[in-house]
Amino acid sequence: MSKRNRFFEDELIQSRFSRKMMGKALRYAVPYRRVILFIGVLMVVIGFTSLLPPMLNGILIDRVITTRAGFGSLNFWTVAIICLGAWAAVIIFEVVYSFFRMKLMGHAGFKIVEDIRKDAFGNLQKLTFDYYDTRPAGKILVRLTNNVDDLAHVFSNAILATLIDVVRVSLILVWLFVLDYRLASIIVIVVIPMGGALFFLQRSLMRRGRVMRNKVGNRTAYIAENIQGTTVTKCFNRTAGSSEVMHDVNTKANRAWYKMVRVNELFFPLSDGFFQIGLMAVYAASIFLFSRFGDASGLTLGTLISFIMYMGMFGPPLNAIALNLQQISDASSNLERIIEVVETKPDIVDDEDATELPPIEGRVQFEDVTFGYDEGVNILEDFNLDVPAGKTIALVGPTGAGKSTVVNLITRFYAIKSGRISIDGHDISTVTQSSLRRQIGVMMQDSFIFSGTILDNIRYARPEATQEECIEASKKVFAHEFITKLPNGYNTKTDEQGQGLSQGEKQLINIARLVLTEPKIVILDEATSSIDTETEGLIQNALKIILKDCTAFVIAHRLSTIRSADCILYIADRGIAEAGTHEELMGKKGRYYDLVKSAC
Ligand code: ADP
Repeated sequence: MSKRNRFFEDELIQSRFSRKMMGKALRYAVPYRRVILFIGVLMVVIGFTSLLPPMLNGILIDRVITTRAGFGSLNFWTVAIICLGAWAAVIIFEVVYSFFRMKLMGHAGFKIVEDIRKDAFGNLQKLTFDYYDTRPAGKILVRLTNNVDDLAHVFSNAILATLIDVVRVSLILVWLFVLDYRLASIIVIVVIPMGGALFFLQRSLMRRGRVMRNKVGNRTAYIAENIQGTTVTKCFNRTAGSSEVMHDVNTKANRAWYKMVRVNELFFPLSDGFFQIGLMAVYAASIFLFSRFGDASGLTLGTLISFIMYMGMFGPPLNAIALNLQQISDASSNLERIIEVVETKPDIVDDEDATELPPIEGRVQFEDVTFGYDEGVNILEDFNLDVPAGKTIALVGPTGAGKSTVVNLITRFYAIKSGRISIDGHDISTVTQSSLRRQIGVMMQDSFIFSGTILDNIRYARPEATQEECIEASKKVFAHEFITKLPNGYNTKTDEQGQGLSQGEKQLINIARLVLTEPKIVILDEATSSIDTETEGLIQNALKIILKDCTAFVIAHRLSTIRSADCILYIADRGIAEAGTHEELMGKKGRYYDLVKSAC
């Protein structure tokens, strides 16, 4: 599967039914094997009992209605009652069975799908940023929603129903030969090309279905991207452009859907046509046999009517087999996407003998670190850095130089190619990720606010924190005042975008969240967006408080932050181009000097 993917690119998926993928998915059915087995056995019983009504019908016509001959020692009344009673019993059995099948299999299918979705979501939480960097969020969303839902039907019905329908069609065919081999031979002549035509149609449906799912995935990915970027779209007056792209991806999805539906629509008229032709052939053969041999033909009216009823029973299972096979193969191509989510191994996993990082002081060292996001392109090369505990480091330099990359490596969000990063002498690749990240506080430019309340958002960093601790943290970073002015204070509802809160207020909430974890290392990506001067002042004071006792890495944009740092790193050319205090670097009159001058 291609690694990088965007909304306008179809995902490469394997083209045929994959037994391997189906096998992996069927593992999820194992816990429900008893229910599936029970329903499977009942399905076989139903396969046999469904053969009874046409047979009873034949007996009723030949032995009760037309000749009143009865059967052996039984008079025709007794035969009529037995036949009608047995017929009614079959109907009741089928209704009860259908009810339980729906209930039990529907439940099992639902549980299986729930388990798959749980595992897929669980694994998504473990995957490193590399996974999210390489595919649009919308496509991951489709996998966990639509693709997994499509599987429900396959597990609750399609696989078992297909097996049973194959058995049922075979039973009917054998029974037709027992009834009258001459008419049965005619059926076979009709059924074989019918099966062939439906098979080809089904292959075409599968192909078109796959294209359609790809296009629908692209559309969802674009919608998701557009929702995320809605502010930018509006700011740059690009709504018309977005509508055009939407129109394009939508047209492609609809066209693909229409192409599939066109073939789908052919399916039923064609199979019905084959049935009618088969029926005509049987009538023609019967007329020939009756007219040529009369009673000596061995064909009775009852046999002929049973025969026609059995023929009628052929169509539904054949159609169902074709449709279910289509759904199974659809699901199998979706499965590849879903199983990929379940099975993709995170780039970064804890070593088996990984230890807990003990409480740290905060010394951070990079030793000959080389790193790149993509093969063959290094962002950092033989990068060396030694930051004593408690110091504040400002990272400056051109956009794209690698400032964020440096800080992302401290939290081990990405795996380095070579070298060593250590904290207090502990190689971060030998300690558990949770013990590492627990002691590092990260605050990104985009202060993400989750749906919930202000309190939930502060407590997000440490779910076990008490309300008092959250309020204490807010007071410490000067967030308490604005929070208490909100309509419901700490219980004010927030949504995923933090609507109703200013950029600065969101930052203050994030700073409170950070303080709650009492980190020894803090990473700050300073916000570039303008914040009102009053809040800006609060943020600066709050940050001073946090940075006092920590080792801090600040991707600094404000000159005031840069000036007050213990050391400034000018990142460029895959490493540190200049390092020193503000005064030292200004004295050097190098790249940092130029940067400061150009900012003035
Ligand atoms: P800075 O913070 O200095 O602006 P970054 O560390 O964000 O720079 O990026 C350094 C380089 O790495 C840039 O060329 C950027 O395009 C690239 N880059 C950043 N993140 C990724 C990613 N997730 N996948 C691929 N390339 C990336």
